[in-house]
Amino acid sequence: MTKTLIHGGQVFVDNSRFQDVSLLVEGGLITALLPAGETVAGATLLDATERIVIPGLVNGHTHSHGALARGGVPEDMILEIFLSGAAWLNLGRSHEDLALCAQLSAVELIRKGCTACYDLFIELPGPTVEGTHAVAEAYHSVGLRAVVAPMIADQTIYQALPGLLDSFDGPLKAAVAAVSMPDWADTIAVCTEALRGWPVPLDRVRPGLGPTIPLHCSDAFLTACAGLSADMGIPLQTHLAETRLQQVMAQRKFGTSLTEHLDRLGILSERFSGAHGVWLSDAEMSLLAHHRAGISHNPMSNLRLGSGIAPVRRMVDAGVAVGIGTDASNTSDGQNMFEAMRLAATLSRAQTPLSQDWISTAQAFDMATRGSAQLMGFDRVGQIAAGWAADLVFLDQTYCHYTPQRATLDQIVFAETGAAVRAVMIAGRMVFADDWILTLDENDLRARALRAADRITHANADARRMNAAAAEVVKGFCHRHCAAHLP
Ligand SMILES: [Zn+2]
Repeated sequence: MTKTLIHGGQVFVDNSRFQDVSLLVEGGLITALLPAGETVAGATLLDATERIVIPGLVNGHTHSHGALARGGVPEDMILEIFLSGAAWLNLGRSHEDLALCAQLSAVELIRKGCTACYDLFIELPGPTVEGTHAVAEAYHSVGLRAVVAPMIADQTIYQALPGLLDSFDGPLKAAVAAVSMPDWADTIAVCTEALRGWPVPLDRVRPGLGPTIPLHCSDAFLTACAGLSADMGIPLQTHLAETRLQQVMAQRKFGTSLTEHLDRLGILSERFSGAHGVWLSDAEMSLLAHHRAGISHNPMSNLRLGSGIAPVRRMVDAGVAVGIGTDASNTSDGQNMFEAMRLAATLSRAQTPLSQDWISTAQAFDMATRGSAQLMGFDRVGQIAAGWAADLVFLDQTYCHYTPQRATLDQIVFAETGAAVRAVMIAGRMVFADDWILTLDENDLRARALRAADRITHANADARRMNAAAAEVVKGFCHRHCAAHLP
């Protein structure tokens, strides 16, 4: 087995301290931390002089399909208006388009120091075995670690939100009423088949399930998803209390909060994570903690869509497992885990002047690495220690962010943007160096992306007009109901 000795760098050991040590990497793992200067017979040397070596950041929530939807979210949209008004961007995509999106997404993440992601990708009208496998194979070929979770539902937003369809009339009402999702039993059958014949090694890219939003899923469907997740031992993630309107609608539809509804159905477990959690009550946080479930905090998307600032410190204090994610490169306009980590630390400061209630830089870093990996079900990912994954990011110590270098972790969390990322290793293999992705041809990728985006824009012109008209009605509905009383 090939051995690599990474020497000369300043290494962030155990997510707790910087040390001048060498790392021995074998078989995709860090097998030993050695005193600086120690040699290992037969090992290939990798010089990390003037590099700060950190574990790769782990993205707890994104959507690869957003990679071909950049610029497609008008700046005045909240989530529900986005779901109705920008749906056309996901129509008419081939399996090659799904794979292309995963490649685009993986390249952006790696370039910005991320080595693993939890991808809730969408295929319309419903998932297929071939589409799901195309996404998994795309991540595997680029080299990014991933959970690939088909994002699925059995109700459209027009069926999901009580009273929404009644806000429409005339031909537009007929048009939105005609949109439908596949029967949930068919969706579960496809997911089961896709998971059973998984095409790539499970230690690198593994399956998950993404029932999109509880309001958009029937009880029977959610129960079947949780059953499949338990049977196969795979993670399940849903958008949970992302907006206040979701909680208002949950009270009308279920007579409870979203999390209590999931608890009554038996959906919560250590495999469960919610994305966002902006509008969780203390009682809901206790339920999540009781089931050892988690939340992916996605601060940039919450700000961009006006969803709010998530009560992350209260989640942590309640015992909820918290990771950090970017959300997609349409709703967040990019996937930068350094930015998401920084926002996790700084937004907590906007919530209280009491520094003991802030998210510290150490907490933010841990959430953005081990925390997100835990949500994905990846053991021993997100920390530099013997026996852990050799997923490493090499930051340039001579870059302005670290000149002078006094409080290294604070400077990484508060200042780093990815601009100092000089190399990225995943599972012991270099995937990025010298400002170049080593596992695919980026010029060819860009050319394919531009052609696909152009084709999608033209092919979906009619759907785009219909979505824009529907979004105006949804906007009025949201404005009437989003501030309604909550218990
Ligand atoms: Zn999302």
